[in-house]
Amino acid sequence: MLVNLNQVLVAARAEDRAIGAFNIYSLETIEAVYRAAIDLDTPVIFAFGEQYIDVANIKIIAAMVRELAGRTILPMVLHLDHCQSVEVIYQAVQAGFTSVMFDGSKLPFTENLARTGEVVRFAHAVGVSVEAELGSVPFGHTESVLPEEYLTKVDEAVRFVAETGVDALAVAIGTAHGEYKGRPKIYHDRLQQIAEQVAIPLVLHGGSGVPDEDILAAVRMGVAKINVNTQISLAAVKKLKELCAREKPGHLSDLLYEAEKVMVEEVKGFIRLFWG
Ligand SMILES: [Zn+2]
Repeated sequence: MLVNLNQVLVAARAEDRAIGAFNIYSLETIEAVYRAAIDLDTPVIFAFGEQYIDVANIKIIAAMVRELAGRTILPMVLHLDHCQSVEVIYQAVQAGFTSVMFDGSKLPFTENLARTGEVVRFAHAVGVSVEAELGSVPFGHTESVLPEEYLTKVDEAVRFVAETGVDALAVAIGTAHGEYKGRPKIYHDRLQQIAEQVAIPLVLHGGSGVPDEDILAAVRMGVAKINVNTQISLAAVKKLKELCAREKPGHLSDLLYEAEKVMVEEVKGFIRLFWG
């Protein structure tokens, strides 16, 4: 059953749990996320990033997720991940997405606030939830220690949430998108300060490669949604490389199915960690 973020994250935060948001961009990735959630009987978030819009048609992606989610009473969210274009947000809502992330984190604070507020007004009018981001969770930044100026500022988070009416806030507390060179430094004290003053569910991006104990501590403090992409992709690509290295790699349909099975297990590992 498709629901929006509020219908799963508010309860998750209250119960010190988090729900995984896994990137989808093909039938195999969608099926992998669906099967993992069904096997473990937990809610899940399908995250389609604006960056995949040229790889996979947004309407077809939405139709596939809606078809699968309609087969279960488990709550599932179809979420537009990292979107900087209001145009694409309209497209997603029209295609049946139940949630969107407007990423104005690269904009000056007041502009991010104003534009996020506009997205919230539109989205809430049609029952769609909105996630926004403050601070910087960089892409392609492999250093394991991010400078403090990247982090979300507590006073800005309080004002931003109050004035935009956003449903979930992605915070910058030391994580980055992609792979890390070493163990990433997570600024738990900053997260704690934000969580004490911001009541809405918090979101952690860049979940791949973060040690389990850092994840669990973040969940206890109020992180209720964790985005994972890189690690699922790495596992599937590793499997495909192994299969392709054989003398007879086999038919593409078999290779894709094997990759999907690996992704199911990978997603399940994250769900078990986040859900507790
Ligand atoms: Zn992200």
